[in-house]
Amino acid sequence: MNLLDNLNTKQREAVINTEGPLLVLAGAGSGKTKVLTTRIAYILEQGLCNKYEILAITFTNKAASEMKNRVENLLGYDVSDMWIGTFHSICTRILRREITHIGYTSNFTIYDRADQISLVKEILREKNLDVKEFPINAFLSVLSNTKNIGEGREYLDNIYKDNPQLKVFGEIFEEYGKKTKLYNSLDFDDLILKTLELFETCPDIAKKYSGRFKYVFVDEYQDTNKSQYNLIRFLTKNNNNICVVGDGDQSIYGWRGADITNILNFEKDFTDAKIILLEQNYRSTKKILKVANSVIKNNEERKDKDLWTENDEGEDVIYKRVGSDLEEAIVVTNWIEHLKYNHYKFEDMAILYRTNSQSRIFEETLLREGINYHVVGGLKFYDRKEIKDLIAYLKIIINQDDNISLKRIINYPKRGIGDATIGKLETEASNLGISIYELIKRDILHMVAQGTAAKLRSFLFMMENLKEQINNYSVSEFVELVLEKSEYLSMLKASKLREDKTRIENLGSFITAIMDYEKNAEAPSLEDYLASVSLLSDVDKTDEEGKGVSLMTVHAAKGLEYKIVFLTGMEEGLFPSERSIYERDGLEEERRLCYVAVTRAEEKLFITSSSSRRVFGKTIIKEESRFIDEMKDNIFEEKPKVIVDTNFRESYSSSVESMADDLREPFYKKPKQTKKTLEGIDLKMGQKVKHKSFGIGTIVSITEKSDGDELVISFDGKGIKRLNKNLAPLEIL
Ligand code: ATP
Ligand code: MG
Repeated sequence: MNLLDNLNTKQREAVINTEGPLLVLAGAGSGKTKVLTTRIAYILEQGLCNKYEILAITFTNKAASEMKNRVENLLGYDVSDMWIGTFHSICTRILRREITHIGYTSNFTIYDRADQISLVKEILREKNLDVKEFPINAFLSVLSNTKNIGEGREYLDNIYKDNPQLKVFGEIFEEYGKKTKLYNSLDFDDLILKTLELFETCPDIAKKYSGRFKYVFVDEYQDTNKSQYNLIRFLTKNNNNICVVGDGDQSIYGWRGADITNILNFEKDFTDAKIILLEQNYRSTKKILKVANSVIKNNEERKDKDLWTENDEGEDVIYKRVGSDLEEAIVVTNWIEHLKYNHYKFEDMAILYRTNSQSRIFEETLLREGINYHVVGGLKFYDRKEIKDLIAYLKIIINQDDNISLKRIINYPKRGIGDATIGKLETEASNLGISIYELIKRDILHMVAQGTAAKLRSFLFMMENLKEQINNYSVSEFVELVLEKSEYLSMLKASKLREDKTRIENLGSFITAIMDYEKNAEAPSLEDYLASVSLLSDVDKTDEEGKGVSLMTVHAAKGLEYKIVFLTGMEEGLFPSERSIYERDGLEEERRLCYVAVTRAEEKLFITSSSSRRVFGKTIIKEESRFIDEMKDNIFEEKPKVIVDTNFRESYSSSVESMADDLREPFYKKPKQTKKTLEGIDLKMGQKVKHKSFGIGTIVSITEKSDGDELVISFDGKGIKRLNKNLAPLEIL
């Protein structure tokens, strides 16, 4: 098949004009990523360069692996070793080779958010500042922004000089920089900034890379920030063959410094740039697009454009307002089961939400129903303690200067090395400007008791021993060796706690993951594996790849598509988020996010909002999102037949506190029942009922249907069923 088949005229134009700068600007689902991947395949097929001379950058690991898949399918050969990746992974690859030029060693560690937090805490403790009082999250975001605009301590000192609480930010910022350098570690921002620094200070190296990449591609260009943009400038200096694709309406990282002017300035910055606009959407039904258009048109800061499609009209976009977050989860689960009966696969479905914390209740409900699912961005797997511990061991074996990892495991399993000892070591090491590991290695242990010194030496002996053996084993075998020699595994095995059994299983899955990695990697090594794990950004860490219904935040869904999408939690203060409501830019960004969410759907879209939600154990009342109002003319609202008090709604599930039972009493009286079905009986949500074969259950929702109302009932131990009120053998309790 010809590569250019299945492209429309404009898409084809974008693919075959291979030379010079090109900007493809177009709405969601119009084939931007398709153009980009086809163009890569076309360039290779035409023999314009070899596969190592192409660089393609995108935003999440999931999007990067999809991109590789698409290119591979077009070309029919393996492209796993091509330079296709995220900004972070590409920079890591460059830095591993070149970072020695700017004073680090190539075995540097990558710090994720949890590591950053430990590091800030360490600094606070050293400065005798109260860890509990310090706004760590705010600091980390200031840290990131300050670094990204190329500023430093003085800038912060100046901004916060009159603020008693934040005055210390500058000082901590400076110390953070020193420590990361000392520990030979880089955080996510550093990966990009250090690459820039490298290119700025070593023009020869910059030249080498800009000479090497004959064609550079960037997907989701609307979300690049200034430093990413500068990086692209460096990399394209030599050949000027840059193709970027993006959509202003999908710019959703303004809060992280993404700079929409990068799109606007493209023509100015890259001379002779060609711009191609695509308008036709191939992804979604007409009805779904109508909803998307009706929302985004409320943004003032945008070029007016409507997406259109030749796809079918499709089915109504369903909207349902429910009574609580639990009810929302049950309703969605129900839809899922229903669709499954109608021959959709779980893999075709995605549940989207605004914030990570919304996933838990969906997870519980899906689990109860035995529905397979995986969470993208939930940090589930890699955030588990045992996995983090093991990774900490591995990180130190690679980079002994990584104090943060060292402190995590030096006394775990317990080796009689207490916090006081670690404190003393830390102070001494810090005074000498070396790491704790190095201190032990140099045997500078005068500040601790003899017995403790012996314990430290034996820890060192164990670690050094492991280090020496690294080349004798495959990565997975070596990791097993670490588990054994560190006595981590025997500690878990000796434990009687059930959770420790689970930990052993999780470590088993981790080893399996490494084996998979070994199969696919070009040149597997522990270092390379750790980098790939560390590079799983918060947005796209996935616990188990692929199978089942996908759960993720809207941010993580960018660029992806699913036959069926459930867009949940459409409430004021949640989506749009609380913070955004008070600023126009913030609100417009939320609206773009909503547009991203809606345009992920190919065939069916279901939207929910809940009138109450439990946050930190308290029930709060939620108003419908303004975005629902904007969609109103284009969605079909499935109305529950009976509206009941929120206290009452809370009571339908056994997992809600029994307190609700007391509240329920005054709200209804038990009607008399004569028939064997519930036909003609006035029902309310929360009503307990008994089914002939399913036993006792609670009514979760009631939807008016012409042939008898549909009841969704959660049966104790039997799951959720959707039953016809006039037919099902039910009685009330
Ligand atoms: P987003 O803005 O969400 O990233 P996009 O513009 O990158 O979307 P793609 O993901 O490339 O869009 O394409 C959307 C869907 O439409 C894909 O399934 C793709 O295969 C299909 N598609 C794109 N162009 C065509 C075409 N000319 N003919 C048929 N299908 C197409
Ligand atoms: Mg895309």
